[in-house]
Amino acid sequence: SRPIVAIVGRPNVGKSTLFNKLIGQRLSIVEDTPGVTRDRIFGECEWKNRKFSLVDTGGIEPESKDIILSQMRTQAQIAIDSADCIIFVTDVRTGMVATDLNIAQMLQRSNVPVIVCVNKCDTLGDPPADFYEFYNLGLGDPIQVSSVHGHGTGDLLDAVLEHL
Ligand code: GDP
Ligand code: MG
Repeated sequence: SRPIVAIVGRPNVGKSTLFNKLIGQRLSIVEDTPGVTRDRIFGECEWKNRKFSLVDTGGIEPESKDIILSQMRTQAQIAIDSADCIIFVTDVRTGMVATDLNIAQMLQRSNVPVIVCVNKCDTLGDPPADFYEFYNLGLGDPIQVSSVHGHGTGDLLDAVLEHL
């Protein structure tokens, strides 16, 4: 069967926007309300003649005791455990926050290869200054992406293919 690539990260960083851009269809719900993607959503993706299944997940809030958020976290953990590669989406506009570090620790425990996607880098060219702090996640070289415009998605997919 096809390899599985899971998109994870905290709410509102642009996971569903990225998912839609990568599969080229608006299958996943994009909302300004954090945490609107409550269930996992699957799509098929092909890049450079390699096919894989892409999984969108609800946002991970490691500390939250809210019932919906804890269910979303459980679903994300299931997606992580079944993935061959993870795209960890972060947001250059908010910069790196404590939740990002918590998720990074969760991902390091999973032993699944992780690509750090720094989303909302909407300007072409050199990354914004806040891009570089994401090296501190300790998960390798981050990749600058604008999911809205599609910038950087080729570099992101190239990095994913190295792990499939
Ligand atoms: P999710 O909760 O992580 O799935 O985030 P969504 O995909 O629902 O997006 C949350 C908000 O961020 C929406 O208002 C999106 O339009 C916005 N967004 C997503 N990607 C980008 C991007 O690359 N640039 C900008 N400027 N906004 C983005
Ligand atoms: Mg979503």
